[in-house]
Amino acid sequence: MKNTSPKTILLIIAIVLAIAVTFALSQITNGSSGTSTFQLVIFTFALSFASLVLLLLFVNIIILNKVNKLFATVKNFRLQSDKASVNIEYNSNDLNNLNNEILAWAEDRKNEIEQLKKLEVYRREFLGNVSHELKTPIFNIQGYVLTLLDGGLEDPSINRNYLVRAEKSVDRMITIIDDLEAISQLETGELQIELERFDINVLLKDVIDSLEMKATAKGIILSTVDENKPIFVLADRFRIRQVFVNLLVNSIKYGKEYGETKVRFYDVGNNISIEVADNGIGITKEHLPRLFERFYRVDKSRSRDQGGTGLGLAIVKHIMEAHNQTITVMSTEGVGTVFTFSLKKA
Ligand code: ADP
Repeated sequence: MKNTSPKTILLIIAIVLAIAVTFALSQITNGSSGTSTFQLVIFTFALSFASLVLLLLFVNIIILNKVNKLFATVKNFRLQSDKASVNIEYNSNDLNNLNNEILAWAEDRKNEIEQLKKLEVYRREFLGNVSHELKTPIFNIQGYVLTLLDGGLEDPSINRNYLVRAEKSVDRMITIIDDLEAISQLETGELQIELERFDINVLLKDVIDSLEMKATAKGIILSTVDENKPIFVLADRFRIRQVFVNLLVNSIKYGKEYGETKVRFYDVGNNISIEVADNGIGITKEHLPRLFERFYRVDKSRSRDQGGTGLGLAIVKHIMEAHNQTITVMSTEGVGTVFTFSLKKA
């Protein structure tokens, strides 16, 4: 019965109703002249049957045809949105099929709208964050330039100093724009990962050397266990360098004076697991789930004071995802933070 077509249902109803009306009328007219009763029965049956068949034709031709056209449009629209642009005719008398078709279509549209809403929120947040980040250095530069134009240029006690400060703000803007460029390339998939076999210990040593001055300024020691042991991985060397830089710079920025950051490697099946552990200020539990989001900072002013853009960990996460690998964080406030990521062994 579930899959009976509307035509069949109407036909059954037509017959049942015709019989019922005929029977009722035959009962009413029972007792009057025999021939006229028989004629009345035949006439009533024919009349009921004809009117219901007309109704059936009306439903079939006018309504079902129109409904089929409507669903053909829906189906074509669905197929076209799946990039298979074909013009199909839809012809079904089964209302269940039609119903399923429209439900599937509605579900597709609902998902699409939700996705668009998310993107819209992301776009608005992103634009707001970018303009907020750029505002501070731009206003600083404007302040220094105006002061210099207002006579500061002739004042040897501030002229050079203000130019140096303006230059620092320009540097800050360049850092923000570089990070924004990196993140937008990673997010749009524009940036292709170039895999190569290399010794990650050599790369790490190079990064540690380049950050030594920054670390010693705070009395922090950056070190690696198994310094001279070759550890080969298959990854994008340039991007993994960026991962190390971002994690180690963070360990300095959020490290305690005279602290220590240690990098360890673990052999785990097909992968090498890499751990960057510091004994810095740590992060409270409630911040950990959002730490890898763009512009997310535990302490905004501390991050900005340290030259942070709030994009470093988001970039790191994207790089790991592009390698089909993951990164996790564990931290205890006041004790330290450990970031762990993995790479394919080579
Ligand atoms: P930022 O440019 O602000 O450093 P990141 O994306 O690199 O941005 O880091 C996001 C936030 O995570 C930082 O603002 C900081 O609050 C926190 N954080 C990152 N690394 C550490 C760490 N090693 N120790 C403590 N906090 C950290």
